Parts: sequence; C-alpha cells; structure tokens
Amino acid sequence: MNAKTRAKCKRAKKSEGPVSRGLAAKAAMRRAARKAQLAQDRLRAAIDVLPEGVVFLDPEGSYILWNQRYSEIYRNSADLFKVGARLRDTLRIGVERGDYPEAAGREEAWMADRLARLAQPVAPHEQRLADGRTILIEERKLADGSTIGLRVDVTELKKKEEGFRLLFENNPLPMFLYDAATRMIRDANEAARRHYGYEPHEIVGCDVGVLFEGAAPHGDFDGAWRHRKADGSTIETTLFTREMELDGARAVLMAAIDVTERRRAEQRLFHMARHDALTGLPNRVQFRERLEELLSYRRPFSILLFDLDEFKAVNDTLGHSMGDRLLQEAATRISSSIRSEDMAARLGGDEFVVIRPGAANENAISAQVERVTSALKRPFDLDGHKINIGASAGAACAPRDGDECDLLLKHADLALYAAKAQGRGVFRFFEPEMDALLQARRKLENDLRAAVQNGALHVHYQPLVDLASGRTCGFEALLRWNHPERGMISPAEFVPIAEDTGLIGPIGHMVLRRACEDAARWPDDVKIAVNLSPVQFKHGDVLHSVVQALAASGLAPHRLELEITEALLMERSEKILSALNGVRALGVGLSMDDFGTGYSSLSYLRAFPFTKIKIDQSFVRELRASADAQAIVRAILGLGESLGLTVLAEGVEHADDVTYLKLMGCQEAQGFHFGRAEPAATWFPDVQHAPAPELAPLPDSAPPRRARRGGA
Ligand code: C2E
Ligand code: CA
Ligand code: CA
Repeated sequence: MNAKTRAKCKRAKKSEGPVSRGLAAKAAMRRAARKAQLAQDRLRAAIDVLPEGVVFLDPEGSYILWNQRYSEIYRNSADLFKVGARLRDTLRIGVERGDYPEAAGREEAWMADRLARLAQPVAPHEQRLADGRTILIEERKLADGSTIGLRVDVTELKKKEEGFRLLFENNPLPMFLYDAATRMIRDANEAARRHYGYEPHEIVGCDVGVLFEGAAPHGDFDGAWRHRKADGSTIETTLFTREMELDGARAVLMAAIDVTERRRAEQRLFHMARHDALTGLPNRVQFRERLEELLSYRRPFSILLFDLDEFKAVNDTLGHSMGDRLLQEAATRISSSIRSEDMAARLGGDEFVVIRPGAANENAISAQVERVTSALKRPFDLDGHKINIGASAGAACAPRDGDECDLLLKHADLALYAAKAQGRGVFRFFEPEMDALLQARRKLENDLRAAVQNGALHVHYQPLVDLASGRTCGFEALLRWNHPERGMISPAEFVPIAEDTGLIGPIGHMVLRRACEDAARWPDDVKIAVNLSPVQFKHGDVLHSVVQALAASGLAPHRLELEITEALLMERSEKILSALNGVRALGVGLSMDDFGTGYSSLSYLRAFPFTKIKIDQSFVRELRASADAQAIVRAILGLGESLGLTVLAEGVEHADDVTYLKLMGCQEAQGFHFGRAEPAATWFPDVQHAPAPELAPLPDSAPPRRARRGGA
C-alpha cells in the first residue's frame, strides 16, 4: 500500500455520518478498497517478476508487501511473513531458531545492529543464512519513513570469489591484481610479497608500473619483462595476465614467473655449447657460425689453420694434464697475437683456427701467421719443463678459394696438410694443385690396399758383403711394388702411405714372414735383415710377429736382423724398449739404420740393445770428395769398435770406397757396387721358392685425414 492510498483510506474513515450518507460512503469505501487492492495486486505482479527479493515495510518496520523471490530467499522464515507483522519480531524468532549463524552467541547485539541498519541504511551489507547462503541486503528509506528493501542471493558469486581469493592468496606463483582502468595495484599475494620483498601497503594503491624495471610498459604485459624487487635488484620474468570481473570492477590478474635462474642456465649452456671447455676459446660450432655469417654478407676473409708441431710427443711424454696446460697457454698466445676483429677458435686436438676478415692480402696474412707462429715458438714453461714446440699453418681465402663453408675449410686443411708434409713450422696458402695432389694420394692409397690384397708387393734382396773376405754374409729385404700404371714405385714413396693408413701392419708382417721363409732355404751362414717401421712398434705386437715368423719358417733367430731408425727411439716408450729387449733376448740382431742422419745417436746406442750400426749412404757417397764425411765415417767406426758393434757402410757404389772402408776397418758394406735388390731367385736360382705367406687382416680404409696428420 502506498502513501496516497493510505491517505485516501483515512479520509474515508473520517467522513462517517447518517445512514444514507453512510451507504454511499460504504460504497465509496468499497470502491476505494477495490482500487487499492487492484493497485496492490498490480504492484505485486510487477515486483514478482523482478529477479531480486523485494520487501516493503511501513515506518514501524511492519511488513506491507513482498515478492515471491523474497519468500524464496528467506524460505526458512517465510511462514512468519504476514502483513502487519514486524520485521523485528520475525528476526527475533529467526535468531532464536538459529536461522542466522552470524548471530550465535551475540544475539542482542546482532539484532541491534541489524535494526540500526534498517532504520538508517548506509551501504549494502551481507547476511549469512543457516543453510550457508549469503544474501546481499540493500535498503532505502522513503520520504514517508517506509522502507524498500532489496535482497540478492550472492551465494554463487561469493563462492566464486572465495575460490579465486583462495587460489590467489595460496598460489606459489607471485600474483598481482590491478585495476584494469586505473592500473592501480589492488592486491599482491603472499608469494608476490615474499618474492619481491614488498610489504602490502608499499605497493597496494601504486601504479602497476612500479614493478617494472625502466619505463613501464603500456598495453599488453604478457611475455618477458624485467621486474624490480623491493631491494632494487632486478629479475627476469615471464608474465601472464588475465582480465576479470572482481567485486564489480574490471581487474587484471598478473602472474609473474621468475626466469632469472633459467635464463642464466640457458646462457651458461649457450656459452658452453659455443666454447671450448679447455681453453675458453670459441669452439667449432661458433667458428662455423661466424664463417656462415661472413659468407652470407659476401665479405672477403681468410681462415688460418694452425697445427702445433710435436704436441703429441708432449702429451705422450709429460702426460695429458701437461698437454692440456700447453694447449691453454697456446690458446692465450694465439688470442693475443690477433687483431680485435679476428676470431680465434679451437677446432679440437692441437688444431686452432683464426678467422681474419678482410681482402686476401697475402703479405698481410703471412705477417699475421708469422706473429702467431713466432708466439708459439717461444719456449713454454710448464712446471720447470722448458718445452719447445712450433706450429704449421695453412690458409684459405674467401671468396678466392671457395664461397662455401665446407669447401673453404677443406682447402685450408689441404694447405695445412701440404705445409706439414714439408716439415715443421711451414706455412702454405691453398693452391688448386693441392687438391689434385690429394686426389692422387687418395688413389695411391686405394691402389696400395689392392696391391696388398692381390699380392702385388714383392720382397727383393740386396746383398750385404763381409769386406775382409768379400763374401756375401747376408741380404737386406727391400719391398718392391710394380704398379700396373706407374710401374715401379719406390718404398720411400709408399711406405709412408702404408704407415699413415695402418697398412704397414699387414705389409710389415708379410715382409717378415716372406724374408724368414726365403732365408730359411739359404745357406746357414747367410743372414737376413728386415726393416721395421716405428708404426709397427706403436700399433702392433712386433715381438709376437717376430716369434711367429721364426716359428713358421724354422729360421734360426741369430740369422735374423731387424733394422730400425732413430725416429723410433725418440718416443722413449716402455712398450718399444720392452719389444727391443724381447727380440734381442731371442737372439735376433738389432741394427741402427741410417746412422748419422738423426741427432743424439750416441745416447740411443747405449740405451738400446743394438748389435750393428749402418752408416747412412749420404756419408759414404761423399767419402771421396769430403774430408768431413771421412771424419764422420772414422768416428762412427771408432764408436762401433768401442761399443762392440758391427759397422756396415750403406750406398757403396765405387771400388775406391771399398778400399777406403776396408782400410778404415769397416766390417761390412752394401751398395750397387755389390748388387742391387733383386728377387731371391736371382741370388739363389736353385732354391725352391717358398709359398706366399697368408695375409694378415687389413685395417679399415680411409681413416679421417686429421688422424693421419697426427692432429686430434
Ligand atoms: P733403407 O733401409 O735405407 O734401404 C736402403 C735403400 O738404399 C734402398 O732403397 C736401396 O735400394 C738403396 N740403396 C742401396 N744401395 C745403394 C747405393 O749404392 N746407391 C743408392 N743410391 N742407393 C742404394 P729402397 O729399396 O728404395 O728403400 C727405401 C727405403 O724404404 C728403405 O731405406 C727403407 O727405409 C724403406 N723400406 C724398404 N723396404 C721396407 C720394408 O720392408 N719395411 C719398411 N718398414 N721399410 C722399408
Ligand atoms: Ca734398411
Ligand atoms: Ca739405410
């Protein structure tokens, strides 16, 4: 009932009087009441369609009208609602029945508070019901003192908000809530406060920009940003934002993942993947990147490859940790001998490379190489060990020598390979012919392999003569290869290839077997000398091989002599010494070949169990012309005599030399004067030829070229 109808009713009541008037008045009253009822029904129908609960109370707080939704919301106390009933009474009954859990224990105060709000509505407030629902109450006083109340069941919303709050506050990820419109921070969760070190009051209310290092970003925050902590330090973050409705306003939830550590780890990994762990120099990966980069810009540059000479010997004799330190020191020296725009990298083993941007100026490049190699030539001091090494170098220039990464590297490699073939400390630019030479060498390798398999390698024999009697006291076994296209190829050319490819193992074994088989058919006073390569000692079991050859042929051990060169003894390895002592113990002789061409021959002669010295042919050839050569030959003869070793002179081509050597007291000689190396049948036509010994298994073909250069 609204105020107007109520006033009309009052006026109608006042004008009661005589019967006629009374009848008319009664009719008028009925009409008014009907009208009022109609108005109330209409109002009721109108408020019934509203989604909120609606209630009208008169100035005394008694129910006038309420809608369907209102009864539903208060379904527990709906039985108490009656027109004229006072809200205060229904409230009291509800409190006594326990309909309002918030009131428990403080019923009077709760009631008083509730009624005070009804009398003087301020802001909407919430009310909890016994069944767990939350009702939002909003009330407004009208001019005549009556009250209109709205009720909204906000249970679902509350649950959602609580769920969100719970997730927000307990989330292990730092999270911030800020207002979408004003960008003011509304809240920061526990993880955010702890991680950033802010007290809540320090950031709540601030612009969200305070979290960012430098200028605060505008618009979308998603992605990688730098954040600043309360202590001023910065962290790398990955941000995720989500806009949402919260407490009736648009808010943005921002989660921040601290990726500082991960970024650091990534950077470390990135660094590790592109640097050599030992020297700290850029590694092959970074080197190739730089190469590709320069090539893509079409900028001219050169690559200078360096390979340390004698590094392997340092590693073998002083151990790997010394070898590592040498490499580190070498890396430092290389780095400090290049320009800032150059890049030095370690490709592996003792191989380094310098990328030098700029046009191919050969003089400038040679000067650069010289700077690096002379830095490497200075003695290295490792724990008091003075070590002298050096470096060989090869260069290729882009685009002249190639405009593609692999090709350039291959060409620089070829240049280095050619340099190493010339000896230590040599530098070569790439030349197109090097490619052809390498191809030729490859072909020779393949041909040699086939020759070994097809039995195309033959052993010839050159006589060794006892000078006093003029009798042939032995033969040296010398390899011969009759190449199908090239004819006779000297062992001086193909033995190094056999050594590089590992073919020397089976070849050496074959020569030893063949020579012993043949010699076993010769007179007992004829010896057989067989050359052994240092590689056979390093990679094979020489003692075993010798024992096998002797056993298979039945040759008496004292008739066999093994010829070795100084190169073998420079290694100073236990393995080699024990092999030499082993063969000596069998009774086999040991000759020092090419004597006089190496260095510290005297100490070697004492340290190893030699039985014979072979004076190198270079001295014998000079005998008649050079007094120096005569002096050297005399000295060697004296040495042999004092050490009790037989001395043989190689390369005797003239009768005069024979006379001279005899005079000087040389016991044996060998040379074209007495005879060249010929098949066994030439020397012993009546002796039946021995069957071919079986072939030892061949090594795998084509090992990597780096390994062949003794690089890695
Ligand atoms: P080497 O051990 O010093 O062999 C002597 C070389 O001098 C032989 O060359 C021989 O033919 C040559 N020669 C002998 N007398 C004279 C002479 O009066 N004047 C001249 N100018 N040369 C003479 P060859 O046969 O070409 O062998 C070269 C090298 O190949 C040998 O030098 C030896 O180091 C190596 N070699 C040969 N056969 C074998 C083998 O079966 N195994 C190994 N590991 N190396 C071998
Ligand atoms: Ca020899
Ligand atoms: Ca020799």
